[in-house]
Parts: sequence; structure tokens; C-alpha cells
Amino acid sequence: MLEQGTISIHTENIFPIIKKSLYSDHQIFLRELVSNAVDAIQKLNMVSRAGEYAGDIGEPEIQIAIDKDKKTLSITDNGIGMTAEEVKKYINQVAFSSAEEFIHKYQGKSDQPIIGHFGLGFYSSFMVAQKVEIDTLSYQEGAQAIHWSCDGSPEFTLEDSTRTTRGTTITLTLQGEEEEFLEAARIQNLVKTYCDFMPVPIKMDGEVLNRQKAPWRESSNNLTQEDYLEFYRYLYPFQEEPLLWVHLNTDYPFIINGILYFPKMRPDVDVAKGQIKLFCNQVFVSDNCEEIIPQFLMPMRGVIDSTDIPLNVSRSALQGDRTVKKIGDYIAKKVGDRLKELYRDNREQYISAWKDLGTFVKFGVLNDEKFKKQIEDIIIFRTTAEKLKNSETASVQVQSNEDDAWQDVTTAGDSPISTSPYTTLKEYLERNKERHENRVFYCTDAATQATYVELHKNQGLEVLFMDSFIDTHFINFLEREYQDVKFTRVDSDLDNTLLEQDKSGEIVDPKTNKTRSEVIKELFEKSLNKPKVNIRTEALKSEDPQGTPPAMVLLPEILRRLR
Ligand code: ADP
Ligand code: MG
Repeated sequence: MLEQGTISIHTENIFPIIKKSLYSDHQIFLRELVSNAVDAIQKLNMVSRAGEYAGDIGEPEIQIAIDKDKKTLSITDNGIGMTAEEVKKYINQVAFSSAEEFIHKYQGKSDQPIIGHFGLGFYSSFMVAQKVEIDTLSYQEGAQAIHWSCDGSPEFTLEDSTRTTRGTTITLTLQGEEEEFLEAARIQNLVKTYCDFMPVPIKMDGEVLNRQKAPWRESSNNLTQEDYLEFYRYLYPFQEEPLLWVHLNTDYPFIINGILYFPKMRPDVDVAKGQIKLFCNQVFVSDNCEEIIPQFLMPMRGVIDSTDIPLNVSRSALQGDRTVKKIGDYIAKKVGDRLKELYRDNREQYISAWKDLGTFVKFGVLNDEKFKKQIEDIIIFRTTAEKLKNSETASVQVQSNEDDAWQDVTTAGDSPISTSPYTTLKEYLERNKERHENRVFYCTDAATQATYVELHKNQGLEVLFMDSFIDTHFINFLEREYQDVKFTRVDSDLDNTLLEQDKSGEIVDPKTNKTRSEVIKELFEKSLNKPKVNIRTEALKSEDPQGTPPAMVLLPEILRRLR
């Protein structure tokens, strides 16, 4: 026997589940109702632009009102309203949204997206309300105002209303245990959290509660440096200015808008905890983007707005999601682009930002092959070299407005970088190719290896400082990457063949005319005055007898040390 059919849902049983378990968080009902109000206003705009509404659309606004005696909370919009047919279609049928139909019909009539999608948001009001009423008048000519009411059972009443103004009022009679939502301060807070960047003024007692402007939806051409800084201060008040930012803006192969900032690393900056705010169509979703952005970019702050991040799935499912992975890659790429741009256009700012960012960039290089390829040429190290060549001075690129061409304007001829000298490995090898024979001398601890650094310097050997926590691992990486280069720690006696052999009488410091033995003696005495300085020659040893931990486990340690 073969039988085919449609699975039916028993409303009586499923309704309580929708009400109680659809969302884990009761307070989001407000976000859902305000989103619907914003959509209603947006839809009226679209209809009007399509020439299908001749009336005055007025000043768009959403009003929230509390009546403590009646225990009601109401949300009123002057949007599109609903006819009786529409209420029957979109409200009485759970999980039925008008959004798709609307977008299809009025495509291109709005630059503002419709928030709704699944047709479930409205029913979240039953999480907090014992009774929900809709009073609405459609924009359509000759429409009859109607009143819908439902007490949380699957039965509803629909009758004519005396309403005369276009738009919709949703009135919730709150359940006894949800009366906190009758407090104005609580509602103000919720609006601030979830609805701050929604593009319609939300008013309560005559006062506008939300900011409305969402800078991340603007084109970066329309935003000044000050606009970006102002937005940062708005999101993170009383914090130091950020080091740099990237404006994300793409429609393909996924939609994402956002502005991400690299903050200055300070003890009060909790970089271990993600601080990026996640939005969906300007509606706040969560403070937690840890599964979306690559781990090495965790200290970043700011806003990501995407409709392509699945919101109702578990965190672990999010981590395995392919779009989410692509979004993460895209963000890493944009950060890489920004770093390269800064390196090219403003070397001084790059170097000063590097002091905060270097650790994270190196961590990214260790963990992300694509990111590594992208930025390996702009990894810089502090060096003992005093004067760097002309080609290594800061250069500024300006974009000319007339012809869109890039011009290279190098800053004043022979002025060296004014900040302490940093160099890329390539530049280092090139500069020292004769003297060094493809060797890199590095120092892992500026204090305990000071003697050796001096010794190398005095003999014209350039030393790189690889003395941050992550560098222990980074050196291993460099050794693998540059197989033909020999990396020698300054205090390693295994391979200091380039240091002069023991010719104690020879003058090694042409500046002071000091002989080798004098130099060593002096350094030795200096070292003795600082009892901490260790002048014993130690062979290069791994600091971790169990072997190098995989780079992935490092981040928590880096973060701990930065704090
Ligand atoms: P969604 O917003 O995802 O479409 P909802 O359950 O929140 O789903 O709402 C269902 C439908 O009810 C909407 O698509 C819309 O047609 C209608 N609706 C809800 N609130 C309003 C409102 N304030 N004004 C006009 N229509 C509304
Ligand atoms: Mg909705």
C-alpha cells in the first residue's frame, strides 16, 4: 500500500511550544515588535515610491506607551497598516511572512532592507503577554480599521475598529511575572540595546530613544576619519582612540557590512572576550562574535551586520558553517588589506600600531595560511640598524580625485624614519647580504642578551629583536619558511663564526677606537653592575622541554600577558 499526504500540526499542542520555547530570551519580544513597526514604515515608503499611495506618509515614527494601571505596553507605528485579509493571512497563519512577497513586488523601491523574514517574530509577544491586541488601519483606500485580539489560546477575535489613523498599534497585557516591562527604564534600556540603529525614531513620552544612524551602512567614501572615531567613542565611551579600522562592505558571495576597530592594548581592554556586536539588518543580535571572526582578530571591536549568519543555530554549528567560515576569511583579508595599505601609505603609523598589533598579526600568520601569504612581506622587527636607506623611509600615497590614479609621493628625501627603526626580514637580508652571508642574528631578551647585542653591533652585525612572547614560536616558523637562511641567537656560541676570532688587540669599535678585549671588559663590567644580566653563553635551547606547543593554544597565554 502506498499513501502520501501532508503532515498536520495540532495547534492546541504546538502553540504553547511556539510561545515558550521559540526564543530563550523573553525580552526579545520588544525587538520583534519594533522590527515589525520599522518594516511597516519601510513598506509604506516602498508603496509610496511605487506610486501606489497618494496620501501623505508623514514623519515616520514609532511610539511606545506604558499604562501601569492596565498593565499594558503598546507599540504604535504610522506605517502601512493591515487589512482584515492581511491579518488573517499574516497573523492568523503562524510562520507566514509578508516580507518575501513585498520585496518581490517592490524591488528596488527601498535602500533600507526589510527586517522580517520567518513570520514568527510577532508570536514572541506571547512570551510576556497574557493578551495581545492589534488595532490597525491599512493605507489602502476605503480600508476598514480592524481589531484583533487573542488571549494566548489558538482562538482569536476579529472585529471592526473605530481607529482613524493609518498604521498599527500592538497592545500587550503583560503576564503577572513579566511586569518588569512596565518600567520605563527597562524599556529604554531594551530599545538602546536592540533598536539603537533602527532607521526610524522610537519615542516614549515624547523623547526619542534611539540613535538611528548606522554608519556601517554608509559608503566609506561618505565617512570622514572623525566620523569613524566618533562612532568608536559612541560604542566604547571613555576609551583611547583605536589604532586603525576596516570598513566591511560586500554583497557577494555573502552580505556583510560592518566597521571593525583595533583598539590600543591596555590593561583595561579585555581582549580575551570578544567585543564585536553582531547585527542583522541594523537589529542588535548579540555581543558575541567569537565563532565568526578568526581567533587572532579577537581583540577587534565594532559592528558586524549580516543576514547570512545563521542566528538560531547552536554555537558549535556556527563554527562548522561554511558561510561563517568564508565571512571569517573575508574579515581576515580586509584586515590584511588595511595593514598593507597602512604599511604603504603611512609607515610611521604602521610602526606605532605594530607595537600593539604585532603579536596578533604574527599569531594570524602562524594560524592562517592565507593571511600569512597576504601579509608576510610586511612583518617588521625592531633592529639595531641605526639609519635605514632611502627606500625604507616612510612613503605616502595619495589618491588624486581627478583621474583616480595612484601617485606615489615619497616624503622628504633623506629623512629617516623618526620612530625607532624597524625592518622587514627581506630588507634586513638585502642590507646585510655581504657581511652576513644569509645569516640573521636575533636577540630574544634585550636585557639578558644586551652584552651580545652590543658585541654584534660593534662589529657591524645587525641584530633583530625577537623578544615578544610569541617570537619564540615565530622563530621556528621563520626557520621553516626561510630554509636557506641561518637564524642565530646572539648569545649562541654554536655559530658565531662571523664574530671576529679572538684577536684581542684588534680595534673593533672604530667610533671609540676600542679593542675587542676592552669592549668585552667594559660590557662585562656593565653587566656586573646589573646583577640580573646573564652573560654566560648559552646554546640555543628550546624553552619548553616538552616541545613547542601548537600555536593555537597560545592565544589565551598572549592575552593573559597583555593584560
Ligand atoms: P516577519 O516579521 O518575519 O514577517 P512576524 O511574525 O513578525 O514575521 O510578522 C508577520 C507578519 O505580520 C508580517 O510579515 C507583516 O505582514 C505583519 N505585521 C506584523 N506587524 C505589523 C505591523 N506593525 N504593521 C503591519 N504589518 C505587520
Ligand atoms: Mg517580524
